[in-house]
Amino acid sequence: MGLFDQLNTMGHEQVVFVQDKATGLKAIIGIHDTTLGPALGGCRLWNYASDEEALTDVLRLSRGMTYKNAVAGLSLGGGKAVIIGDPKTVKSEALFRTFGRFLNSLGGRYITAEDVNINTQDMDYVAMETRYVSGLSNRSGSGDPSPVTALGVYHGIRATVAHKLKRDHLSGLRIAVQGVGAVGRYLCGHLAEAGVQLTVADIDPAKTQAMVELYGAKVLPVTQIHAADVDVFAPCALGAALNDSSIPEIKATIVAGGANNQLAVEQRNGQQLLDRGILYAPDYVINAGGVINVFHELKGYNAEAAKRQTATIYDTLLEVYAEAERRRIPTHQASDVVAERRIQSLRAAASLRHSYDNQPWLSR
Ligand code: NAD
Repeated sequence: MGLFDQLNTMGHEQVVFVQDKATGLKAIIGIHDTTLGPALGGCRLWNYASDEEALTDVLRLSRGMTYKNAVAGLSLGGGKAVIIGDPKTVKSEALFRTFGRFLNSLGGRYITAEDVNINTQDMDYVAMETRYVSGLSNRSGSGDPSPVTALGVYHGIRATVAHKLKRDHLSGLRIAVQGVGAVGRYLCGHLAEAGVQLTVADIDPAKTQAMVELYGAKVLPVTQIHAADVDVFAPCALGAALNDSSIPEIKATIVAGGANNQLAVEQRNGQQLLDRGILYAPDYVINAGGVINVFHELKGYNAEAAKRQTATIYDTLLEVYAEAERRRIPTHQASDVVAERRIQSLRAAASLRHSYDNQPWLSR
């Protein structure tokens, strides 16, 4: 398929290639859809094997952000940037400031933030050159989004338990958390406070030990955590936790966790969970607390307002589950339906607005 055919099929508005000889900056910015507002999504630094691989990644990730921002109810479209290079050698103040200057040329159509291999210090450099950046360090922004992401996952687990198990509290439930890093450990705190019996696993034994000491968690090997005898399995490590070999072994009737890209093969694995009667909280819906936090930073940060909006993940998931049951489709498809419905309805509203405001012959 040719490039423009691909953009047409995936629905992208714009793709920008950026290169700067002096700093070695090579980047691609994907702007997928700006119906709801400026395209927002993180900037990923990765040593791609080829330019084609980088392009494929930015197209896929920017489209994902359109859905994530839409279903979270934000006035933001979807975009993403990838910087091509070795994270150990390519980073410099000059590179990130140059990237920031390029963002100015887009006039705010794309707003960047942190992603894989990028930290708040890198984003602070970008912010020296442009205001089209969010997710800055505590010095000037909202800081680490992980606590708010974890809070959203907690509300999402509550909603999923309410729907599947018809319980309005978590007390006495058994929950297995895979990965107790930034998101997982804050999630464990909320769950322990709610009276949950925790089982955890992590490749870093110091992190699981901390959960034992703080919350009396049980520890399982990383190879067994998905098959724990629990009510809820919460993937909070890397992607693809839900795959052909793990799904048949899951004993929980709910999968709800913070990790991105949990389904290894989206369509097949989403259907397998449905067939096994396991209710899956779509990853990009339940882990939207981080992007909601970044949105609030753009508005002028108020931590309480960010937390209040993050709590709406509860109702959004209930809407997704109702849609999935009505249409008899897996929940990851139902969340796309909910997102597309919001974009379509606002696209119609935007065209009405434009038909009045943007007519050059109107002399008001
Ligand atoms: P992190 O690196 O702080 O934590 C990940 C943890 O998983 C680490 O402790 C790591 O040792 C552990 N781990 C790695 N492989 C494992 C395995 N095979 N089994 C068990 N544990 C393993 O990252 P994080 O910020 O907590 O993010 C976790 C997930 O949530 C990622 O998928 C990320 O994309 C997603 N996410 C994070 C945020 C956020 O605000 N940080 C927002 C949205 C989504």
